[in-house]
Amino acid sequence: MNLKQTFLTFLENNLFLKNGTCPICGKVLFVTDRFLCHHCEDDLPIINTPTCVQCGRPVFTANRDVCTPCAKLKLPFAGGYAHLNYQNSGKKLVHAIKFKDRPHLGIWVGTQMGEAIAKCQWINDVDLIIPVPLHRNRQSERGYNQSEKIARGIHDGLCQKMSKVPELATQILIRSRNTPHQIGQGREERLRNLTGAFNVETIEAIQNKTILLVDDVLTTGATLAETSATLLEAGAAQVCIATLCAVAE
Ligand SMILES: [Zn+2]
Ligand SMILES: [Zn+2]
Repeated sequence: MNLKQTFLTFLENNLFLKNGTCPICGKVLFVTDRFLCHHCEDDLPIINTPTCVQCGRPVFTANRDVCTPCAKLKLPFAGGYAHLNYQNSGKKLVHAIKFKDRPHLGIWVGTQMGEAIAKCQWINDVDLIIPVPLHRNRQSERGYNQSEKIARGIHDGLCQKMSKVPELATQILIRSRNTPHQIGQGREERLRNLTGAFNVETIEAIQNKTILLVDDVLTTGATLAETSATLLEAGAAQVCIATLCAVAE
């Protein structure tokens, strides 16, 4: 091997992860990068403005602690956390986790969410962490449920910050009906399509429990409202929510 080849091999083995590219900007990742390049990681649109006390989405009206959708639609959430604004690289990150076969990215960002959620008062009441399920057909197409990966990360992040961590429960709630993709639908249409889509498999497991429901995106709140309604009707005491991205009110 000549000097140039040795040097190139050294670069490949020590600076780059083979075939690893940043899912947001497409640049080759260095060994010192984790799942995103440093620039994109620093640039994530983390929500740092006032948020709705019920769902965690950013609120912009002064002196109001509940967002318009939660107030108008009487959404049933007892507490909420949203990590990123659903725009620019936040959108690209969700897209990569959902459609580009990057389940580990979901666990990684979920862990950061868990560390932040450990500071929320309501987490102390939570007994179970439940991801919003996919229908089994959709899950076998994708190979995994992105919300379950995020929930797993949240659990890991909480374990680093709290002594008593709620249990992660992935078998309790199922999606019994395969619903169409919601892109482009209004809230009413979404709700109509989702009614009765979820089932609680083991009702005893959730009686009087406070549940943290985890989903990838909070837009109209239709999916989380329907899922919460199913859990509350089946006997849960309260439902809090955590989402990777949220649309501001
Ligand atoms: Zn990047
Ligand atoms: Zn809200």
